Amino acid sequence: MSNNPYLSIVIPVHNEQECLEELYQRLTQSLDNLGKTYEIILTNDGSTDKSGEILEELHKRRPSQIRVIDFNGNFGQHMAIMAAFERVRGEIIITLDADLQNPPEEISKLVAAIEAGHDVVNTHRLKRQDSMFRLFFSHLHNKIRAWMMPKLKMEDEGCMLRAYKRNIVDLMASTGEATTFIPALALNYASNPTEVGVAHAERAAGETSYNFFKLIRYNFDVMTGFSIVPLQMTTMLGMLISVCSFLFVVFLMIRRLIVGPEVEGVFTLFAIMFFLIGIVLLSMGINGEYIGRIYQEVRKRPRFVVRRVLEDKETSIAHKTIHVSSVLENEG
Ligand code: UDP
Ligand code: MG
Repeated sequence: MSNNPYLSIVIPVHNEQECLEELYQRLTQSLDNLGKTYEIILTNDGSTDKSGEILEELHKRRPSQIRVIDFNGNFGQHMAIMAAFERVRGEIIITLDADLQNPPEEISKLVAAIEAGHDVVNTHRLKRQDSMFRLFFSHLHNKIRAWMMPKLKMEDEGCMLRAYKRNIVDLMASTGEATTFIPALALNYASNPTEVGVAHAERAAGETSYNFFKLIRYNFDVMTGFSIVPLQMTTMLGMLISVCSFLFVVFLMIRRLIVGPEVEGVFTLFAIMFFLIGIVLLSMGINGEYIGRIYQEVRKRPRFVVRRVLEDKETSIAHKTIHVSSVLENEG
């Protein structure tokens, strides 16, 4: 085990053929400058362009340092990172995007923060270079998340240039979660997290993989994966409607005794109906609470399929088992 590298750099790749060469040059340059031993794990997340071939070629250039995980299809950015997390050998793990929006030159900052004793290093983008639409959406999402999940202390959730200590990564890999959001998951296990500002660039080439619907789906992943507040809100709403309708029924009963029946008793009927709808919503909410929890437990489908792994056989470890006893706690 002594020839394990100090740093593991984890990069998800989905249709990034134009970016990979520059990524390789700048990344290896800044890592060589750091003077630490390192490995780079790139996951090809079902690219349909030439990314697969380019990655294979990069592996051949530096077989002991560059490892490639080839997925059988597109399983998403977070699963691509998870697959790499299951295989990391380094003590410090850094994630970053392949499109060079996270400058590799910033890695030294993160390494310094981990060496200063932090186990998770979050980042916020100092001058974010994205479309107005993305900035607005992201701002809104960060606000809702901060309200729903006050325990997840993160200024900027979307920046994927982050650093973790090995034990945190092993814990994350052991969860087996299929719809997850890695930075939030890491904070569940962190004992001494910190946040640093990093530069952000425009996409070097190509296009973002996130369209409007993918963004919405991803937002729900974060919400449902780390909070049951949406379910609780349904329950609360049901309770509120029930109480209001009950008061309405009491009011109509008294009114009927004093003033007499209203138009053909129609409103009494409405009051009763509203009361019942309130109860229906309430029970649906309570049911949802249970279903939500059961759902969280039973999602045990294979979260991704690896077609092949390109790595130097000499340095590869056949299989790695992780023993973890911690349980991921939900936010209440
Ligand atoms: N990515 C991936 N699988 C996907 C979508 C994206 O591995 O299904 C990778 C992509 O190659 C990039 C990173 O995740 O390295 C971030 O994706 P992108 O730049 O498209 O997202 P944005 O920066 O617009 O949020
Ligand atoms: Mg990007």
